[in-house]
Amino acid sequence: MSYLEIAGVISGYGKIPILHEVSLHVNQGEMVAVIGSNGAGKTTLMHTIAGLLPLMKGSISFQGKRIDTKSASDIARMGLGYVPQRKNVFAELTVLENLEMGAYTLKNPKDQIKEMLELFPRLKERIGQRAGTLSGGERQMLALSSALIVKPKLLLLDEPITGLAPQIIKGLIELIVEIRNQGTTIVWVVEENPKDVLQHADRVYLMDSGIIKMERSGREFLEEENFEELFLGH
Ligand code: ATP
Repeated sequence: MSYLEIAGVISGYGKIPILHEVSLHVNQGEMVAVIGSNGAGKTTLMHTIAGLLPLMKGSISFQGKRIDTKSASDIARMGLGYVPQRKNVFAELTVLENLEMGAYTLKNPKDQIKEMLELFPRLKERIGQRAGTLSGGERQMLALSSALIVKPKLLLLDEPITGLAPQIIKGLIELIVEIRNQGTTIVWVVEENPKDVLQHADRVYLMDSGIIKMERSGREFLEEENFEELFLGH
């Protein structure tokens, strides 16, 4: 069984299914990209893995254990981190308070907070600033560091670079690749800068209307003749 195994999952909102028998797997240490057009179900998939949406059918296992019956906080405690696309920081709290919230399960969070501030010097400069007043890039750094602080084994990233300045995007991609190189498994919903991200991806899943339409290695996908169209989901 793979590190993360999603088998025949149907889930959605209320009684309406959005994911239709989605199956995919992620091996330990991999960086796997999930792509697809607007409304394809990428965020719904991330929510479902993280335990925020109940399954109607199927199963999800992480490190050989079923997680689809567990609460989101139990799943997080097992080492599965999630950085949602929106509402990923506490806007009313300061940078430091956000990091403390991220680290609330740690017995002695001081060292880890220090480590995160060294990784993101920009956040150190803004330690007392309310998160709601940070720039888009700074906010993404805070969201990422609040998830990284507990050293997750697997990190779900729902498009962490959308709408950011090119310089910031480059730095964040490098940082995430470095986190993967240090052993964290990554699932990345990619909407922006596909070529810059997919060149680092071991595999790519293309979603469309709640199903997995295609699976390729990162390299194969980049070499697809109709790459742009596929990426846009046509
Ligand atoms: P995008 O790239 O636009 O963020 P996505 O691939 O992440 O899209 P989802 O956000 O998972 O897609 O949405 C999939 C479908 O589920 C869409 O049709 C959307 O309208 C619907 N949906 C999302 N959230 C809800 C909700 N809370 N209640 C009902 N339907 C929802």
